[in-house]
Amino acid sequence: MGQIAENLKTVRERIAKAAARAERDPASIKLVAVSKNKTAEEIKQAYEAGQKCFGENYAQQLKEKYEQLKNLSDIEWHFIGHLQKNKAKIVAPIVSWMETIDSLELASALDSRAVNPINCLIEVNIGGEETKAGVPISKLKTLMGGLANFKNVHLEGLMIIPPYSADPEFSRPFFKKLKEICREYSLEEISMGMSHDFEVAIEEGATIIRVGTAIFGERK
Ligand SMILES: *Cc1c(COP(=O)(O)O)cnc(C)c1O
Repeated sequence: MGQIAENLKTVRERIAKAAARAERDPASIKLVAVSKNKTAEEIKQAYEAGQKCFGENYAQQLKEKYEQLKNLSDIEWHFIGHLQKNKAKIVAPIVSWMETIDSLELASALDSRAVNPINCLIEVNIGGEETKAGVPISKLKTLMGGLANFKNVHLEGLMIIPPYSADPEFSRPFFKKLKEICREYSLEEISMGMSHDFEVAIEEGATIIRVGTAIFGERK
């Protein structure tokens, strides 16, 4: 077995164990393999090991890999990076999921360029960090109201990247908070948890986890 296939197997086992601890069905947790700065060939190896969802951070990389892997037509592409409005035309026709909506203008640009419906998540700046992307909690309600009337863009939930700490327990209160907000607004999808903290995220209710390093190895 290749390294990527082996890593995937380990990650899936860890997902299953965390789900069991939380008395959740592991099938209710979507694993997005984050392939930024990795090659189409590496994505193909993960695909051959049964992985169908991939997350990309940059519009141009997404487009190039999408073109290279077009024959693998059941890949589900997630966009998880900061996206400028003028790049919406590149991303909208490719992705099934847009996890980082941060303005009505971006949503509108995606809506008008989409070919198929796009499941959208609003990125929330849960730690109130000045340097981080995402919408402050105080502005969430207004943005959600504005998103209600699009044709292709459908709001399904929220996404966070909490402030970083090597200790996964540091993320737990942020995960709890996001779950609470999702419950308050009856949003189903909760995207949280990365290589270093996805098990805690699962314990706290994540429905989507985004894992890069633990699958593909360190990035350059
Ligand atoms: C890079 C990235 C990830 C994956 O991070 P790892 O620590 O490599 O698992 C997850 N989410 C977002 C938004 C990212 O940019």
